[in-house]
Amino acid sequence: MANYRELLQQVKTEIDEVDASRTRELLDSPAPPLLVDVREQDEWSEGHLPGAIHVPRGFLESRIEGAAPDRSQPVVLYCQSGNRSAFAAKTLEEMGYENVASLSGGFTDWKRNGFPTELPRVLDAEKRSRYSRHLLIPEVGEEGQLRLLDSRVLLIGAGGLGSPASLYLAAAGVGRLGIVDDDRVDASNLQRQIAHSTDRLGDWKADSAKQTLEALNPDVEVVTYKERLSSENVDRILADGWDVIVDGADNFPTRYLVNDASVFHGIPVVHGSIYRFEGQVTVFKPHEGPCYRCLFPQPPPPELAPSCAEGGVLGVLPGIIGSLQANETLKLALGIGDTLTGRLLLFDALAAEFSEVTLRRDPACPVCGESPTITEYIDYVEFCQGRPQPV
Ligand SMILES: [Zn+2]
Repeated sequence: MANYRELLQQVKTEIDEVDASRTRELLDSPAPPLLVDVREQDEWSEGHLPGAIHVPRGFLESRIEGAAPDRSQPVVLYCQSGNRSAFAAKTLEEMGYENVASLSGGFTDWKRNGFPTELPRVLDAEKRSRYSRHLLIPEVGEEGQLRLLDSRVLLIGAGGLGSPASLYLAAAGVGRLGIVDDDRVDASNLQRQIAHSTDRLGDWKADSAKQTLEALNPDVEVVTYKERLSSENVDRILADGWDVIVDGADNFPTRYLVNDASVFHGIPVVHGSIYRFEGQVTVFKPHEGPCYRCLFPQPPPPELAPSCAEGGVLGVLPGIIGSLQANETLKLALGIGDTLTGRLLLFDALAAEFSEVTLRRDPACPVCGESPTITEYIDYVEFCQGRPQPV
């Protein structure tokens, strides 16, 4: 049986090691390796190599595939002195990683060379308290919370779906929320649109939602666009920089416009729709899963087009579907879990049943396919029988 020192020596003969100078060269090269800090949280908090990601040794096997799904990607691991990272490198090789090295001498030797280090950003005491239930989940933690605070989510519509989605995203600490809505609060909205209230009847929905969200969480900046999304303004609005779009408009002219814009700009869309007792949610992630036009390449002709007027809906249904949209959005922002990309989740409120349909990409899709024919925006508003309404 080998003791620690013998085992370490044995492992070091079996893995590749790189010294601090070579590591620095690799990091400065045009194709730098993924740099992984395998130390504990308190060590990471006192400083780390610039550009490193933090995967403590104890979580290496369970989390590395999330950070480096491609096993041919070069990886450099480091710890404080180069011993724990040697064992970690051995583990990654056993997991099939093809190009793994351990930084000999570790963080200590890197610093001794006078190479740059970085102090991680940390949450202040107020934020640690506000987001404490996120900090208790390893998949979120402090890094995830900082990521959420850096995230920017654009909501199309501050109505039935946009209300619960935006409330949960604001509560979760998504740092920047954009709201596109050109409607005013009406008494008939209040049965389900929980971002608004009776004393705001007649106010812009975007303003009313902003007031509610900023009161809920002052960490969140809310940007309002009191305009209807159109081919004229969509590029300007998207140019403000959004990581995810939550489509709560649920009328097909907007759906096509949002879809095409998301493909042109490479921004995922979390789509939701509701009618009476039935709701649907999916994620359209450009070029990774289908887009809306993969399923419905063109809208129906105007004479067959569905009315864009509001339909009846059970008051709580948008709460359920909008919350599922918030769930998908948080996972996309955090880079965790399996999203609804390529899957349509259906909910039947009367039966209290969920079901799922697989959606596939169409290589002949006119917008995300191999030879796209749609390269400019198309306004389908005139296809609506009557004025389109966000739900
Ligand atoms: Zn497509």
